[in-house]
Amino acid sequence: MDTLIELRNIVGEKNVKTDQIERLCYSRDMSVHEGIPDAIVYAKTTEQVSRILKLANDHDIKVIPRGSGTSTTGAVLACFGGMILDVSRMNKIKEINRKDGYAIVEPGVICQQLNNALAPSHFFPPDPGSATMASIGGMVSTNASGNRAIKYGATKDYILAMEVVLADGRVMRTGSIVPKTSSGYDLPHLFCRAEGTLGVMTEITVKILPMPEYIAFAQAWFPSVEEAGKAAEEIITSGIPLSSCEILDRFSIDVVNKAMGLNIPDNVECILFIEIDGNRHAVKENIQKIDRISKECNGLGNQWDDDPSKRLKMWAGRQGLVPSLSKIRRGAKIIPFVEDFGIPMSKIPETIRELQKIRDKYNFPIPIFGHIGDGNLHATLIIDGRNKEEWEKVKQIAQDFIDLTLKFKGTLTAEHGIGVAKAPFIHKELGLSHEVMKTIKKALDPKNILNPGKLGFDDTAKDIFDHFTYKEFVETPDQIQSFGQAVDNEIFACINCGFCRAGCPVFAQTELESENARGRVIMAYYLMKGNLEPSKEVADKFYLCTTCLNCKTTCPAGVMVSEIVEAGRRRLVEAGFLPEIHKTLIENMKTTGNPFGEPKEKRTDVFPST
Ligand SMILES: Cc1cc2nc3c(=O)[nH]c(=O)nc-3n(C[C@H](O)[C@H](O)[C@H](O)COP(=O)(O)OP(=O)(O)OC[C@H]3O[C@@H](n4cnc5c(N)ncnc54)[C@H](O)[C@@H]3O)c2cc1C
Ligand code: SF4
Ligand code: SF4
Repeated sequence: MDTLIELRNIVGEKNVKTDQIERLCYSRDMSVHEGIPDAIVYAKTTEQVSRILKLANDHDIKVIPRGSGTSTTGAVLACFGGMILDVSRMNKIKEINRKDGYAIVEPGVICQQLNNALAPSHFFPPDPGSATMASIGGMVSTNASGNRAIKYGATKDYILAMEVVLADGRVMRTGSIVPKTSSGYDLPHLFCRAEGTLGVMTEITVKILPMPEYIAFAQAWFPSVEEAGKAAEEIITSGIPLSSCEILDRFSIDVVNKAMGLNIPDNVECILFIEIDGNRHAVKENIQKIDRISKECNGLGNQWDDDPSKRLKMWAGRQGLVPSLSKIRRGAKIIPFVEDFGIPMSKIPETIRELQKIRDKYNFPIPIFGHIGDGNLHATLIIDGRNKEEWEKVKQIAQDFIDLTLKFKGTLTAEHGIGVAKAPFIHKELGLSHEVMKTIKKALDPKNILNPGKLGFDDTAKDIFDHFTYKEFVETPDQIQSFGQAVDNEIFACINCGFCRAGCPVFAQTELESENARGRVIMAYYLMKGNLEPSKEVADKFYLCTTCLNCKTTCPAGVMVSEIVEAGRRRLVEAGFLPEIHKTLIENMKTTGNPFGEPKEKRTDVFPST
């Protein structure tokens, strides 16, 4: 039997998509890479996942597991075709057990969704910047973490047990709900950081913690990066259990000052955003110690607060930085490459200085910020994907970042993972352990059906320009079908984060990527590139948007989706693809002056008679 028919038998007709529009909408993530799948299959149960993998294994079909698609590295892209196995609809919280400190979730449960269910008594500590959209399955697969990692660790520290479907379709349960076990190999953690290359998780048991009694937070200003670094090091090594310690360099401060009107004075070269939680009395004592250390390190003042409603304001500079970066130059955006390297904490000030030298050497805007407390720096590149010269520089800068990280015995990725983006470089960091990983991969997935091309296993991504999505813009710009500079810039400002999956009334009904803002921006992008031609089907997608602007409130890059939708509609109408219903409405307006086609004299009939 045809495999597509079999797939439809397993999950139902409407849960297998092979149309070009939907496939293109699954071909991008935040990375600079592109991979167009042959099909998207939506699974709802473990049994379905098991049957799908057995079928795929029998027929050598590649399978790319996917949660919310917020990957920054291309890990979720079908670079060699095959099917995307979308498990985002497996999103039930099966059990919350506060007494024993665990929760059992399906893989598509969103981090924020779990925390909402646990509040106010408990929480799930890993807090990536994408917590409103990242799925627990995706977080386990990449070992996601966030500001609180300094005290609470990363996702790996919360994995107790899981149910995984192996490449051949067998269903394995591994781990235990109890806090400790010494029963053989630690298999649950084997699937952590595996980026979907070893199996598909269908259920995950995670550890949860009681909410701390008291939380205080501060902004600490310093006259130099070195003094801020020294203060952070002394605070942490003196045993004060900070729950967050974030750093922003002057370049980043200038960005938020300008974009958010923050007025941080010129003599502040570096800011630490600090948070400390726990017993109220102990926290207050530690605040005094932190203030003393900051003073000894020439700090320019610490501003503290403990009112949760003021936290956002206090941390505005840190929280608002990433969105502000997209507004420096419209059309240019954050490009993740080696953007999340980890280095020993003591080397942070030195690393920041080295990064600033790289910034000067290439005369390139590189804001430097990150989680100083766990040695995780983000030196992000803001570039216009259409600009050839900028790409040439980026390639050299990426290499300098890698050399710097390895010089300090760091890791190329502290939280985002390898995917395609770091695949060309990862062997340099991993050495023999990379070979051992390949052996494990071969044992569990001998036909290499699960997420091939990732983690640098099969040498298919040798260069950052492999599977490169901007090729046409850089090499044949004259063939690009522009919407006009302003709209093109909006399309390029989109970072494909998918945060707009939340709040879109159309997506809430249909759960199709092509029917949320990310999907529509991707369609407009491909209309520009020429991969997608105007058609009735594309017009239907563009006209389904209600232009309600909900996506504007969730969009970290402030993308004007309504302008993109309007430009898309204009092009589609010009090409002769106006949906039938709109043709009727326009005709009615012309002939009767109202969209319903009723004669003028009947206009008042809609009102009830008195
Ligand atoms: C704006 C923005 C900010 C971010 N901030 C952070 C941050 O602060 N910290 C951080 O760590 N990350 C961050 N990320 C990266 C990303 O959100 C995380 O990697 C997240 O964990 C991915 O979750 P997801 O559901 O989107 O997974 P996806 O992107 O769908 O998938 C990621 C990987 O997991 C695999 N996978 C997904 N589900 C399963 C499953 N059930 N079984 C097996 N494999 C699976 C996929 O194959 C893929 O390899 C950020 C991303 C964006 C866009
Ligand atoms: S404007 Fe369109 S894409 Fe955005 S939330 Fe509304 S319906 Fe969805
Ligand atoms: S429109 Fe905004 S929220 Fe949606 S994917 Fe693009 S950047 Fe993210």
